[in-house]
Formats: sequence, C-alpha cells, structure tokens
Amino acid sequence: MGRSLEVAVAPTCISSGYCRNSAPDVFGQAADRKSVVKSNPVEESEALWEAMEGCPVEAISAKDSRTGDIVFPED
Ligand code: SF4
Repeated sequence: MGRSLEVAVAPTCISSGYCRNSAPDVFGQAADRKSVVKSNPVEESEALWEAMEGCPVEAISAKDSRTGDIVFPED
C-alpha cells in the first residue's frame, strides 16, 4: 500500500457502477455514463483495490506512476 498509481478505465466499461460505489473518491461518471478516473495519480487504497477486483468486465487497470510497473491486472 501507499503507492502512487496511474489508473485507467477502458472503453469496455459497461457502467455497472461498482467502482464508483466502491471508491467514489477515485471514480466519477462521464457524459456517456461510463466511469472515468477523476484525477491521476491515485493513492493506492483498499477501496481502489476493491473497485479494480470487482469490476465485472475487468475494465480497470493501474500502473505504478513512479516505476511504470503494471500493478493491476496482476499476473
Ligand atoms: S466497475 Fe467496471 S464496468 Fe462497472 S462502472 Fe466501473 S469500470 Fe465500468
């Protein structure tokens, strides 16, 4: 925990709302109803992990903003 992450939502988002409910500080909703990241970088948190792992279409990804390593999805 404690890393600074660059988080992205792919166009495959089906607007389930799960991420916005899990991590409302991180995810907002665009005019097309899909989720967007409000502001990058994002501080790693339990809420962010819940959102990433709970997305039904695996549309959320994250990389370490310092090293560029892919943090999510995990191998
Ligand atoms: S959890 Fe996934 S499908 Fe649902 S709104 Fe967020 S990015 Fe879109």
